Amino acid sequence: MEPQTKPHSASSVQACEKCNQNFVIEVDDFPFYEKMDLPLPTMCPYCRFKYLLAFWVFGRFRITKSALSGKTIITVIPESAPFPIYDRTEFVSDAWDPLTYRKDYDASRSFIEQLVELQSAVPHPHQIGIKNTNSDWADDTWESKDTYLSRSIAGNDSVSYGYRLLNCKNSIDLTFCWELERSYDCLYCFKSYNLKYSFNSRDCIDSFFLYDCRNCQNCFMSWNLRNQKYCILNKQYSKEDYFEKIKEYNLASHSSIEALKKEFWQHIKQDAVHRQNYNLQAVNSTGNFLNNDKNCYQNYFVEDSENCRYCFRGRGKECIDTLSIFDSEKCAISALDQKGYGNICNLYTNFCRYSAYLDNCEECEYCFGCVGMRKNKYCILNKQYTKEEYEKLVEKIKSDMKKNGEWGKFFPLSSAYAGYNFSLAQMLLPMIKDEALKFGAKWEEIIEPQYENIINANNLPDTINEVNDEIIKQRILCPETKLSYNITKEELAFYREHNIPLPQRHFDWRTLDRFKPFSLMVTLQKGNCYYCKKEIEHYYSKDLDFEKIACLECYQREVV
Ligand SMILES: [Zn+2]
Ligand SMILES: [Zn+2]
Repeated sequence: MEPQTKPHSASSVQACEKCNQNFVIEVDDFPFYEKMDLPLPTMCPYCRFKYLLAFWVFGRFRITKSALSGKTIITVIPESAPFPIYDRTEFVSDAWDPLTYRKDYDASRSFIEQLVELQSAVPHPHQIGIKNTNSDWADDTWESKDTYLSRSIAGNDSVSYGYRLLNCKNSIDLTFCWELERSYDCLYCFKSYNLKYSFNSRDCIDSFFLYDCRNCQNCFMSWNLRNQKYCILNKQYSKEDYFEKIKEYNLASHSSIEALKKEFWQHIKQDAVHRQNYNLQAVNSTGNFLNNDKNCYQNYFVEDSENCRYCFRGRGKECIDTLSIFDSEKCAISALDQKGYGNICNLYTNFCRYSAYLDNCEECEYCFGCVGMRKNKYCILNKQYTKEEYEKLVEKIKSDMKKNGEWGKFFPLSSAYAGYNFSLAQMLLPMIKDEALKFGAKWEEIIEPQYENIINANNLPDTINEVNDEIIKQRILCPETKLSYNITKEELAFYREHNIPLPQRHFDWRTLDRFKPFSLMVTLQKGNCYYCKKEIEHYYSKDLDFEKIACLECYQREVV
């Protein structure tokens, strides 16, 4: 007899049910699925990421009313969502009881179908953040003040059009930035002051167009710099010459900023040295954007984690196939299952344990197929059972689900709160409408109200100096998205103060466009180090067209 400790000695190759590409189920994957009594995946890792990401809403902000009290709320959940939307404070109050939505399990029907029916009936909160001041136009926003049209942010003060920000201040158009102040149009920048049009830089002050720079001050259009001052195009200038030279760039003009952005990307492509991955302290781990991880496999944007496989965003232990876990352990196939333990197929849950198929539940234990529940135990389809009844019925449902192939399948894509185009999937692993529909996802048609006297953004004044105060009363049409937007009074003051031209695209398009390079850094590539020619694994897709991708050793040598 084979010893039980070594059940799988070889990986297995399968065709993905979505994209038809062959993918590998690794030897080390098997024990994870077995331990959690789950079937093996039928989709490749990227289709699994796409699938889960489709559940993370990146919707358009809209004004509506809480279905409970009629209070005005601003939400990113589209009108097409089937369930009632409650103001978050009402959602967590005793003003309603999720148990009144209870259903008996009907063994003659698909369990997931019954779960989706329940999900369509039970109210959902309009957003998930708390402790904000003057930040109604926000989603997933926490402990922030005076924020506007921002999402997934915490601890911010006076930021607009931000996405994934931590402790930023007085800034506009930042994406994935920590501790930036008085900054504009940056991606993946940290601890910097007055930084503009920059990407992947840290500890920089009063600078523009920096890529992979550290501790630089008064630098312009430069890359891979460390501890420098007064550099332009990586060339050293005297203080006086630097400021003289900077004047030659017309930074108040939209057309010259666009030309400079193109030039910046040419330098990033041809001249900058790129570290084979963005990982810091990733021990025995693969994936990109890892920080302090151990024994992790094909994870992206994951930190302080151990033994996690195919996880996207977050931190956890012994998890597999998850999106945005946060301090979760032994969880599988879940999206936004935070502080969870021993869960399977959860969606938007918090502090839940030993549960499966929950949507928008908090502090629940031993619950199965429930929606909108808080602090409950032994519930199935929002119905209360005794411990014994619960265990017996869960066994029965699991066995029925195994028979019809439903067990271990996540919520159907049709039950995502929004269409694929209004989800994080579109940001990270974008698809066009036909591809998304073929994938099985929903697609949201954009319905934009007709405005009189709207101006096309392409006709906005080229420089900020030509803009008069009337602009804040004007509706502007983005030619790219056909969505309209406006300029706020505070925003106009910021642009004037910083000499920044008016944006000519809708703010969501700007965020998506800014994020684009990251969507090309989340697939494993094989290549050779530009310098030593040794074979390396890196994460820069060919579409980025980066010339100098370096192994860690060569990067350390080249970029001092
Ligand atoms: Zn696939
Ligand atoms: Zn090398």
